[in-house]
Amino acid sequence: MSTATERLAEVRANIARAARDSGRDPAAITLVCVSKTFPAEVIAPVLDAGERVFGENRVQEAQGKWPRLRERTPGTVLHLIGPLQSNKAGDAVALFDVIETVDREKIARALADAVQKAGRSPSFLVQVNTGAELQKAGVLPDEADAFIAGCRGTYGLAVAGLMCIPPIDDQASPHFALLRQIAERNGLAELSMGMSANYPLGIQLGATHVRVGSAIFGTR
Ligand SMILES: *Cc1c(COP(=O)(O)O)cnc(C)c1O
Repeated sequence: MSTATERLAEVRANIARAARDSGRDPAAITLVCVSKTFPAEVIAPVLDAGERVFGENRVQEAQGKWPRLRERTPGTVLHLIGPLQSNKAGDAVALFDVIETVDREKIARALADAVQKAGRSPSFLVQVNTGAELQKAGVLPDEADAFIAGCRGTYGLAVAGLMCIPPIDDQASPHFALLRQIAERNGLAELSMGMSANYPLGIQLGATHVRVGSAIFGTR
């Protein structure tokens, strides 16, 4: 059985290869280590191996683990990658550096209020439901431009880019290509796309962030 740090080395090598194969600088791609469900003692060796960017999908779970991990290892950057409830917006703004899951008016408003109260702002990604799946979070592709404009204009949110989770049974590439198109026409630089199953493909299609969990930490 391999350890998280051994698997991490493989993921790093795969990222570097995918970047080189696409003529991209590997340094332009940020690995977001998705540590959801894993306890601090499993995360610590990955911090010790030099990783500084982590993703969690629940505010409460992250509140339980990360204050101490951050004390232990300063300089960590925390991404919220799971759906956010508006009553948790204040907690999310206090804890996270990047919130990847802005996907509806109510959340945009709650985040804007929280930012004002906190006097600090994470950066934000808008989640796009590229497969228009009923059960999935994210703004519909047709509504993305207007929603992004509202987040920036009406709510003054620092929108840096887009995120998507392709339908599990689809080829990911059309979804990644669509996300990139929406980002380009809205002048957004960051693209969070690609998970354990398809992060090299995400990189090939322009991802600036890949969110990799099980390929590093093992099955959940
Ligand atoms: C869990 C999760 C990931 C990581 O998934 P793996 O398949 O374990 O790499 C990435 N993005 C989101 C939004 C997730 O919830």
